[in-house]
Amino acid sequence: MYIEEFGSMVFNEKVMEQLLDGESFKKLMMVRNEGMPMERPLADVVAEAMKNWAVGKGATHFTHWFQPMTGATAEKHDAFLDRNKEGEPILELKGKTLMKGESDASSFPSGGIRETFEARGYTVWDPTSDAFIREDTLCIPTAFCSFDGAVLDKKTPLLRSLDAINHQAVRLLKQFGQTTRYVYPAVGLEQEYFLINRADYAKRRDLILTERTLFGAATPKGQVLEDHYYGTIRPRVKAFMKELDEELWKVGIYSKTEHNEVAPCQHEMAPIYARANIAVDNNQLIMDIMKKVANRHGFVCLLHEKPFEGINGSGKHNNWSLTTAEGENLLKPGKEPEKNLRFMIFLTAVIKAVDDYQDLLRVSVASAANDHRLGGNEAPPAIVSMYLGDRLRMVVDAIINKTDLKTAYEKASKKEQNDDRNRTSPFAFTGNKFEFRMPGSAENVSCTNYVINTSVAESLKQFADRLSPFAGKPEFEDEVRKLIREELIAHERILFEGNGYSQEWVKEAERRGLSNYKSTPEAFSHYTDEKNVNLLKSHGIFTTEEELKARAVIGVSKYTNIVNIEARTMILMTEKDIMPAVIKYSSELAYGIESKQALGLNVDHEMELLTDINEHIRALNANNVKLQEALKEQPAGTFEAGMHAFERILPAMEEERRIVDELELMVDKQSWPYPDYTDLLYYV
Ligand code: ADP
Ligand code: MG
Repeated sequence: MYIEEFGSMVFNEKVMEQLLDGESFKKLMMVRNEGMPMERPLADVVAEAMKNWAVGKGATHFTHWFQPMTGATAEKHDAFLDRNKEGEPILELKGKTLMKGESDASSFPSGGIRETFEARGYTVWDPTSDAFIREDTLCIPTAFCSFDGAVLDKKTPLLRSLDAINHQAVRLLKQFGQTTRYVYPAVGLEQEYFLINRADYAKRRDLILTERTLFGAATPKGQVLEDHYYGTIRPRVKAFMKELDEELWKVGIYSKTEHNEVAPCQHEMAPIYARANIAVDNNQLIMDIMKKVANRHGFVCLLHEKPFEGINGSGKHNNWSLTTAEGENLLKPGKEPEKNLRFMIFLTAVIKAVDDYQDLLRVSVASAANDHRLGGNEAPPAIVSMYLGDRLRMVVDAIINKTDLKTAYEKASKKEQNDDRNRTSPFAFTGNKFEFRMPGSAENVSCTNYVINTSVAESLKQFADRLSPFAGKPEFEDEVRKLIREELIAHERILFEGNGYSQEWVKEAERRGLSNYKSTPEAFSHYTDEKNVNLLKSHGIFTTEEELKARAVIGVSKYTNIVNIEARTMILMTEKDIMPAVIKYSSELAYGIESKQALGLNVDHEMELLTDINEHIRALNANNVKLQEALKEQPAGTFEAGMHAFERILPAMEEERRIVDELELMVDKQSWPYPDYTDLLYYV
């Protein structure tokens, strides 16, 4: 792969400049960067150029590529083919078709919106995200909404949040005497994943149906030696990574870092950061391409947050900063952050946002799979807190306490500095950006990012409102300092430097009044709290409360469905595979005991084992009945069903697993119906 091939399958700005006339190119750039509306004549010109370019690259079809509420991406392919007036075939893409597509919305989750609106849905071109070619298809990134504008996808709220934060940031910067055309959040997403052998995967119903192992005794090794992190990459995995990079580079994704992660056969890839909506689009594409490339190498790529118990799960770290049109990072502290008022006010805005909307951040990462990570002893807990690093924390303390910074610095320089390495913090400042570590590996992080963008936009709005009478006046700086101090005092409770995994922190957080929503249904029940509805409506992210309610319903229903599918899969495995295998093995054992006894041999050990297995069989059977009952007793309401899944079904599943995992260690390996954790995790 040569650098010249980078982005060869992307209709990017360079291609646009080459293929469009000067006037159209200029207009398109204004649409892309400054939110100018797209007009039909321009769309016609762009569509024609896009089609010719794509056909030249061998494409025959196009699709409006969108992100429905399933969290995956969706596409409906059409050929460029059309018939002209003379009845002859032509290849065509009209501006109208580029801009808007019609699609039946009724097969996508809408959380009830579709009952009150028409089932027709529209995909609307997002000209800020580059179209690209995959195989023979031109993919046009689009947003997805219903007939009368209700949002039906993950992308639209994100795009709207970019407008919100842009508007407020530009406004505040103006008060600081800085004029910039626009400000946008830059996002870099670190994607964790597991690679396992396809042959093993195919032998396990749980992996096939739920993408996680519902049973499986821990291996003696686990990850205690920590020898996998950044370790040498297996040649087969290396070949996968190489091909993945090449595929990603072709579609213009700056895949940069590939390394092994903490758990055996866990890996990570990170592209270079980009504008938030591009980063999210790219991430959706990355996940898709990962799965396809893995297949070609005899692997299955597991993006599930917790495929294996007892070893780390997978996350998607969301690195976030704010950048001006000129490319200046507003979160860069400089050498003396305390003197950099502009930095301090943006930092304060983020602190306030995270504190005020900690519950929304938690909601944005809530899913059945991610619940296993959050609160597990490996990922940040379900409590949102922020870590600033020693030095910045000192600055904050000095501001709050009105103490001298110099002596604090001198004291600090004697002890070792550990600026960006508190790995237990969910929201950590890492030098010139924030890293939000709660999102799960499989998630579409649009929601996470519109929550961050909008809550920061709200802080900025409040600050700009308050400072506006002082802009350009001599007392401006003093007012800014006063504001920063007041806000830091008000939101200090969200700052935490200690070990986020400890039990003491859970208690301390409770004392501080921070929220700790342990389950997805509980988290979602706060999505529509009045303050959250107000935030998202006032910044134009959603137009009606119904849209938010719908999202909560979708989130909780999905949770309940997943837990139910997992429970049913467990029952199936227990009844069809595990119980028969164990009964067969124990019968053989019993025959063996009989024969040995006939010969007058000692059978104490075998008897003990057989008795133990028998007791487990009984316990398993009893628990299986309990699990089935819990499944039958589904309450009617969405939230009630979600809580039932959390409080009744999940504990019964845990018990089922505990019994089976013990049995696995008692029964001979040949008799066990599935590849075990050693087979799955330590392949060559
Ligand atoms: P780590 O040490 O946590 O692995 P890196 O510095 O390698 O972190 O960066 C991880 C991700 O953060 C990458 O995607 C990188 O491009 C992104 N990143 C770096 N700087 C910024 C920034 N200013 N804003 C947003 N993302 C950034
Ligand atoms: Mg990181």
